[in-house]
Amino acid sequence: MNNEHMPVSKKSIPWDIVSCPICLARVVHQDNAIVCSNPVCRKTYPVVDEIPVLINEESSVFSFDDFAANKTTYFQKRGWLVEWINRNVPSISHNLVARQNYKRLAELALEGNTSARILVIGGSIIGQGFEILSENSALELVETDVSFGPRVTMICDAHDLPFVDGSFDVVIAQAVLEHVVDPFRCVSEFYRVLRDDGLIYAETPFMQQVHGGKYDFMRFTYRGHRRLFRNFEEIQAGITGGPGMSLAWSWQYFLRSYAKSARAQMYLTLLGRFTGFYLKYFDYFFKHTQAAYDAASGFYFMGRKSKIVLSDRDLVRYYS
Ligand SMILES: [Zn+2]
Repeated sequence: MNNEHMPVSKKSIPWDIVSCPICLARVVHQDNAIVCSNPVCRKTYPVVDEIPVLINEESSVFSFDDFAANKTTYFQKRGWLVEWINRNVPSISHNLVARQNYKRLAELALEGNTSARILVIGGSIIGQGFEILSENSALELVETDVSFGPRVTMICDAHDLPFVDGSFDVVIAQAVLEHVVDPFRCVSEFYRVLRDDGLIYAETPFMQQVHGGKYDFMRFTYRGHRRLFRNFEEIQAGITGGPGMSLAWSWQYFLRSYAKSARAQMYLTLLGRFTGFYLKYFDYFFKHTQAAYDAASGFYFMGRKSKIVLSDRDLVRYYS
């Protein structure tokens, strides 16, 4: 597509790899909308505040109307008190690995290359430890989400990515796959848009209570998470948060289960944070034990796109 005819965007959109999320044909810009160039499809996609909304409405839980007038979808606007609590009261969560994992991922992505193009799924707000990637000028980040946010370049749904095959060197999905209705389909999309030998990095919860309200669908054991990425060769995998963090979450959610109103729920959440935040520090002591994998808060997987599929028999054998 011709860049001269593209809208001036706050973020740079990589039009050379953007395609129709329904038929994967190239798209063109017409009257502040994006239109599929395939004469059979000809689907029109809206542009809201210079952000293209490239979702397949037929199969997404979101519709174009959800994004019209810059409405909130996944990330709801919160009151000042809730914001204050989130900033000032110690958190019950602690990611043990994100920072060093992103450092390794950047090194691998730039091995033998001067630059790398990274697709970030769920990237409307900055993820934990993510600064190490966002501050590296050799990495081109395409930050997408199903929600508007300070960092989002375009709205896309991971079930139907609007990119041509083999577009990216790396795909990142940090704390995303629990919020999609079909994580297996999303991972097959990650596989499709990655170049041969491209890198995947995902962090997904296991022992975490419902968060994200109505957009929370899935949890994975360590083995279940490995199977999700069976088309990838493992580079590194493990725990993101251990049993201490799981216990802190359970304690907080146990307390707030008593609440009969939103206000009571907020106070009990606050009580849970004040009385349970320290539990996460236990994770430093048992993050390497086998048993910790049976009770971990979440797992990560770093891998490389492969033509070899991990069989279910090998999965059980290797991960026993
Ligand atoms: Zn199309």
